Amino acid sequence: MENIEKEINQLRLQLHQHNYKYYILDQPEISDYEFDMLLEKLQKLEDQYPEFIDENSPTKRVGGTVTKNFPTVKHPHRMYSLSNSYNQEDLTDWEKRVHKMVGDNVSYTCELKYDGASINLLYKNGKLHKAVTRGDGTQGDEVTENVKTIPSVPLTLQGNDYPDEFEMRGEIVLPYEAFAELNAERINQGEEPYANPRNTASGSLKLQDSKEVAKRKLTCLFYGIVARESIAETHFESLEKCRKWGFHIPKEATVAKSIDEITSFLNYWDVHRHDLPYETDGVVIKVNSLQQQDELGFTAKAPRWAIAYKFKTEQASTILEDITYQVGRTGAITPVANLKPVQLAGTTVKRASLHNADQIEKLDVRIGDTVFVEKGGEIIPKIVAVDFTKRNPSTPPEEYISHCPECGFLLTREEGEALHYCPNYTGCPPQIIGRIQHFISRKAMDIEGLGSETVAQLVKADLIKDFADLYLLKKEQLIPLERMAEKSAENLITGVEKSKQVPFERVLYALGIRYVGETVARKLAKKMKSIDDLMQADFETLKNVDEIGEKIAESVVEYFNNDKNKMLVERLKTYGLQLSLDEEEIKNQTDKLTGNSFVISGVFESISRSELKKLIENNGGKVSSSLSSKTNYLVAGENMGPSKLAKAEKLGTKIISETEFLAMLR
Ligand code: AMP
Ligand code: ZN
Repeated sequence: MENIEKEINQLRLQLHQHNYKYYILDQPEISDYEFDMLLEKLQKLEDQYPEFIDENSPTKRVGGTVTKNFPTVKHPHRMYSLSNSYNQEDLTDWEKRVHKMVGDNVSYTCELKYDGASINLLYKNGKLHKAVTRGDGTQGDEVTENVKTIPSVPLTLQGNDYPDEFEMRGEIVLPYEAFAELNAERINQGEEPYANPRNTASGSLKLQDSKEVAKRKLTCLFYGIVARESIAETHFESLEKCRKWGFHIPKEATVAKSIDEITSFLNYWDVHRHDLPYETDGVVIKVNSLQQQDELGFTAKAPRWAIAYKFKTEQASTILEDITYQVGRTGAITPVANLKPVQLAGTTVKRASLHNADQIEKLDVRIGDTVFVEKGGEIIPKIVAVDFTKRNPSTPPEEYISHCPECGFLLTREEGEALHYCPNYTGCPPQIIGRIQHFISRKAMDIEGLGSETVAQLVKADLIKDFADLYLLKKEQLIPLERMAEKSAENLITGVEKSKQVPFERVLYALGIRYVGETVARKLAKKMKSIDDLMQADFETLKNVDEIGEKIAESVVEYFNNDKNKMLVERLKTYGLQLSLDEEEIKNQTDKLTGNSFVISGVFESISRSELKKLIENNGGKVSSSLSSKTNYLVAGENMGPSKLAKAEKLGTKIISETEFLAMLR
């Protein structure tokens, strides 16, 4: 008997740990099948020996209890609302109020605002005791049995340094994919689909049969702990502790030291939140120090130490008429949604981005669907969800294309890559045109008198097949082209001729090697000095160049391993393009500033900002755009912003003038 009890406990412990490894650490050690086998074994033993019952056994996740009434339970500590803000001004006002009450030295935790159903979990001695919905904030409904089925809610905690009793606050959400799946099934069974993930999540908590809840793939995202004793000095540290105990704290949460840093968090997530697997409707900013939180306290409705920032989004619903596929210059395929035109944020929207095959599958969008389109901080609107209530049950799922729509080649998709590619590098028209368009673009060769449209025209007329062909063009060939007058033909030829003076670093960027953007091209040009040296460099050599990672190194090696690329470069050489740094520039290079990082701010008298930047780089220094603890010098000019100055002072960054800087080079 004692052995049985031991075995049961052992199994429970094992299963709790595997659950933690899977959901919190994201490092499963056993397969789903093995997990199910262990669970089944435990279930059998529990059925056989009911005397060893445990309310927090992993078998509770499967559900099976039927609750007729959900009792009302008072929250030990009230669940407050949050004050809202909608713009920069509201935020600045809030910061001012905070500063007035606790002084200027304040840092913040920024979190996403998860859009689901809030929940209060009571833990006692490391075990989940009760789960209560928010209700009116003072009391809610107890939904413990249902919540136990959610895999990311820990039933038993890890470690041993948690308080004996505490409340854990979180948001239960239904990820998009689970929502789409659930609706597809409902439609299949002739039931009404649900309108949106948020309401479905809160509705799920009130289902009578917990087995049904278990099937729904809900997840819980945690954002706060309320305990009588102090567990940390800052909110952020407290979140990290909770994560260690087994709570799923989204890793997007971060500390910000100023309004500027908060703003960049906002701006980033305004755009990228659509890539998350669940809905968010804003950001929550919280004063980080718990001591300061105490000082600030609460208003009648909300904490003074926190504020929600709601994303400005305008949504419209319209019909998805078709999905077409675009081929980019690298061969990447992008699916594009063609919409029935609709007014959104003051413009007429006809197209929206769908990203990739996974996105289509995640949202389960199908041609003919009514979809919700949103415009946030970005220019291209996005489809954020399908209105499943309007789906015609007979529409088939979207089948992603298998062949290139432009050249018919079989598409490839590498392990771990989100995008499909057309591998027909030299024969696929949009790739050929795209590479030449990149070559002539402003930051690359900047060829005067030649635009993107003309490039397409030249390729279609068979006058050029690659960018090296540009240097062989004759005026007589151009004149017969449509919309090409004598004068414009002349301008084009002169522009091409002039581009032979464009410096090496830009020629290198113009080649369009994958991952070699402007900055990387500059770094490589400085270090390698000529295309010949670059072509000879092996993976190791490249990887050792400052700021060049493995991905870039690999891409460069691969590019020059291709004979076609090598030939292209050889041709550019014979036509007289700059394929090495000029002597003057090499002569001016030193190591005087090696190991030092600079930030430039303001305007200067004897030198332009870009010249200053070049000087720093030519002498081995690094230029970054924002101050951090790694910055050694702030080169300060006229009219430098006061916030930069304050920050530099706080970080102890050395502030130098233009003259002092120039003296460093002597
Ligand atoms: P509101 O309902 O607009 O007053 O906002 C308050 C609710 O936002 C809370 O009850 C939480 O359920 C929810 N919420 C979502 N994400 C967070 C977060 N990161 N921090 C605090 N509350 C959050
Ligand atoms: Zn193709």
